[in-house]
Formats: sequence, C-alpha cells, structure tokens
Amino acid sequence: MPALPKIVIVGRPNVGKSSLLNLLAGRRVSIVDPTAGVTRDRVSTNITIPPPREATDGEFIKAELIDTGGMGIEDSMQLTAEVEQQIAHGLAEADVVLFVVDAQTGVVPLDNTVAKALRTSGAKSKPVLLVANKVDAENIEAAAYETAALGFGEPICVSAKTKYHLHRFTDRLHEILKDLTPADGQDVDTDPGIKLALVGNRNAGKST
Ligand code: GDP
Repeated sequence: MPALPKIVIVGRPNVGKSSLLNLLAGRRVSIVDPTAGVTRDRVSTNITIPPPREATDGEFIKAELIDTGGMGIEDSMQLTAEVEQQIAHGLAEADVVLFVVDAQTGVVPLDNTVAKALRTSGAKSKPVLLVANKVDAENIEAAAYETAALGFGEPICVSAKTKYHLHRFTDRLHEILKDLTPADGQDVDTDPGIKLALVGNRNAGKST
C-alpha cells in the first residue's frame, strides 16, 4: 500500500488549525474551541486535494493531514515547552508543514517561538507553507502579509470561516505535494508494518 504524504499543521493555540483541518477534510474531525489551550489528542485524517482550477489534466492528490496542535497544552505556564515538543514531534513525521498564524492578531511572541522551533528542528529541509488564517475578507489581507516577517516567505491568506481564498490555498498545497519526490512519500511502495503507540501520563518519559 503506498504511503500517503503527511501534511502536519503547527501553530500556537487558537489560530484556527482545527478549523482548517475540518475545512480541508470537508467534515468535522477536529474540535474547534474559542478557548486557547484546550487539551485534545493528535488528530489525523485523509484528505484529497483537487487539481488547480486552470489545470485541464491535473490529478487529485491524496494526503494525510495531521493536527498536532494543542496537544497536552493545559495551562499557559507550560505553553512554550509544549509547543516546541509538539513541533518536534510533528516534524519528525512531516513531508509538508503548514505553519498557521492568525492574520487578525498579527504576529505574537508565541508565533516567534513556533518559527524558532521550526528553524532549529530542521524543518528547513521540508516545505513549510506559512498560512495566514482568519483573512475573512479582502480588508484583512494587507495586514496578513506582515506575517512574512516570520521568515517563511509570503503567507497564503485564507479564512477557514468564510472560505476566502480557499482555492488559492488548495492550489498552492497541490503544487507543493506534486513537487514531492517519491522519497517524500507519494508513490512509495512501503510496507506499513506494525504501528506501536506509546501512551502514558505527561512526564512519564514517552518522548525519551
Ligand atoms: P486551533 O486552536 O488553532 O485549532 O484553533 P480553532 O480551529 O479551535 O479556532 C480557534 C477560534 O478561532 C475558534 O473560535 C474559531 O471559530 C475561530 N476561527 C477559526 N478560523 C477562523 C477564521 O478563518 N476566521 C475567524 N474570524 N475565526 C476563525
């Protein structure tokens, strides 16, 4: 069975990671909550990205979309360490990274923490797409481009709420997935093998 490329969504709490996952999945898979730091498990779902609208013979590309956000986050005191851990974990398995920020709040210190963690954990070797979410309408777009200061190029502006620029977002995602080499996951005939899950209390030493 060919392994699907893995798209991992990272970003601080409340930027709309779950909302984007649900939007791309076309159904409610992940919990959307207005409270930052709501604890929830890693959520994964298979999605299909349609070919760009102008493509006459484009293919539909399947991928696994993983939201690692909010994992284990229970209070703001532990946010930084948890975000870094979450990113390191997500990156290890990612073929493509979606770095989601909130265009309405602009860049806040925790976004810089995420950016730093992405840089130091070797994400540079993987495609990172900066996604400025909450661009509900055109009037927010100009401010959203200021998130380019994070150092991951110009953002793709989108709104999980109003679906503003949804097609631009999926077109860009399609482009990135299409460019992945077979070694990145697509069309590789790998044996899925046996999957082991490590479970246990926080701090029990699972990551070690
Ligand atoms: P996560 O913590 O990053 O997974 O964020 P959620 O998906 O749970 O969303 C956090 C809050 O932002 C919720 O109240 C959502 O309804 C809201 N939200 C998500 N996407 C958008 C968007 O595109 N526009 C606006 N205005 N609000 C959004």
